[in-house]
Amino acid sequence: MNSINTSRSLNRRGFVGAAAGIGAAGLLGGALGRPATASAAASESRTRVETIKLGKVTVTRVLEYSGPVGMTSRQFFPGSPKELWEENKDWLSPDFWKPGTDMVNSALQTWVLRSGGRTILIDTGAGNDKFRPYAKQWQYMDTGFLGRLSRAGVRPEDVDVVVNTHLHNDHVGWNTRREGRDWVPTFPNATYLIPKIEFDFWNPAGPVRPKYWQGNQNVWEDSVLPVHEAGLVKLWEGSYILDSGLKLDLAAGHTPGSSVIRLESGNDRAVFIGDLLHTPLQLEHPEFNSCFEEDEKQALATRRRELEWAADHKALILPAHLPGHGAAEVERSGGNFRIKEWAGFSRS
Ligand SMILES: [Zn+2]
Repeated sequence: MNSINTSRSLNRRGFVGAAAGIGAAGLLGGALGRPATASAAASESRTRVETIKLGKVTVTRVLEYSGPVGMTSRQFFPGSPKELWEENKDWLSPDFWKPGTDMVNSALQTWVLRSGGRTILIDTGAGNDKFRPYAKQWQYMDTGFLGRLSRAGVRPEDVDVVVNTHLHNDHVGWNTRREGRDWVPTFPNATYLIPKIEFDFWNPAGPVRPKYWQGNQNVWEDSVLPVHEAGLVKLWEGSYILDSGLKLDLAAGHTPGSSVIRLESGNDRAVFIGDLLHTPLQLEHPEFNSCFEEDEKQALATRRRELEWAADHKALILPAHLPGHGAAEVERSGGNFRIKEWAGFSRS
């Protein structure tokens, strides 16, 4: 529980402690979500901020990866016209998209929550050493993720709860780690919360073959089954109350059992929306689905529903894969949405 000592702490809009030197970082963006001015960006790079406080809950961002993921904007978001990316390049670049190559940037990050004395991880990235023949970007990763987690004050045995928003390969990887020939739970004292619908959907013994079954090859065997067989998995249905300020809700579409974590603590509201949004361009254009949606129509409706909730409750949205500041407060704009204010996390 010493994250405050190892990374700077701030509340969502104003800084506390010694973080005054990067005051602008919490207020970047403006109405169109444009990133930092050169001087603010330079100031930021000298002082990384990874922990914010929302009500009584501390939220720390621990990155596993940030950068290109081998997909052009058309491959990642098949319905999005190239011209639109070009029109918005002054703020999409360099954090979210690279003009010229047309490559989309993405982050893999775990949100570490401290709430009521417990340590809660939201999503566990791609993991190390995993064989992913149809998702080569995440194959045989060898990152220092556990070291970064440790620098955030979290030892594996300290983790009380792991939330898998869904069971795609880039959300369950660090559920397990390799030990000799075996996959063992990385967080041996944790309860792993998985939506029952999601668990049943990906169970190879089940009746459905998911659209993304190839990309998710081996995930069940190396990242889900080992924690289930160790008796660490709790399957939940409907909603699940984590504590007085944190609740899990189903948010189907991306996958049938995708879920979000809603935070309501003090005057602060936030929602960890997993893969409901992959680029800030989807705020002004929530009709653009990623290529990974199991149910396109439902994904679109759920994205809009959750963005409406966030805008109407002045809630911070924390997607799983947003690079840059990683999270933002959004507001309604026309019939859609826009960035109101980026979160204070340093830009990845
Ligand atoms: Zn994902």
